[in-house]
Amino acid sequence: MLHIGGMTPCSASDYPGHFAAVVFCQGCSWRCTYCHNPHLLPVSEPSTMTWDDVLRFLGRRQGLLDAVVFSGGEPTLQRELVYAVRAVRDLGFKVGMHTAGMSPERLRDVLPLLDWVGMDVKAPFDEYDLITGVAGSGNKARDSVRRILDSGVDHEFRTTVHSALLSHEALLTMADELATMDVQHYVLQEFRQQGCAQPLPAMRPEYLCHDTVERLGRQFRRFSVREA
Ligand code: SF4
Repeated sequence: MLHIGGMTPCSASDYPGHFAAVVFCQGCSWRCTYCHNPHLLPVSEPSTMTWDDVLRFLGRRQGLLDAVVFSGGEPTLQRELVYAVRAVRDLGFKVGMHTAGMSPERLRDVLPLLDWVGMDVKAPFDEYDLITGVAGSGNKARDSVRRILDSGVDHEFRTTVHSALLSHEALLTMADELATMDVQHYVLQEFRQQGCAQPLPAMRPEYLCHDTVERLGRQFRRFSVREA
């Protein structure tokens, strides 16, 4: 059974262009400084609801919701994810997923069942552990970016940015790495303090200046900045 940390019954912001229920998978093995869902990180926390509860809820929402999004925590850490995604598809919903790409092997198994995936890219791949606290995490993320691109599944890559998290040089390096891999759709998300355990100072105003945004915009077919 999927280990669940919570559910949002209807969201208009977790799967672009769709109304979706969001299932939050419990557990994550990275420790990003800016995590907005610290309560979802411990694997040992008991589920707040059962998978059967989720299926019963979705059964009552057929025809009313477009999709179900698996989020977290990190969905790809759970072996049961593939079965859960199949069950949701069988009910007639589209399926989206948010991932940090920490398990490329499970991602490979679940990608053919997904309609959309949003992957967080956290830093230049060689500097990932400065954000995640886990050595080698950048290699997993690079592998996952490649798998998503190769899959042909609709997707977006996005990065949470703040001048205290990522230097300006690192931001440009990361964008260069993604453009070199032929990423076409890239979003910068300004850091939001809400839900984050660690307070950050105000972002330096020159960090996302006009020149930087223009430079990044030229590197990707679709590029945008999501304001905090
Ligand atoms: S990968 Fe996501 S869920 Fe895990 S610590 Fe980082 S931000 Fe939080």
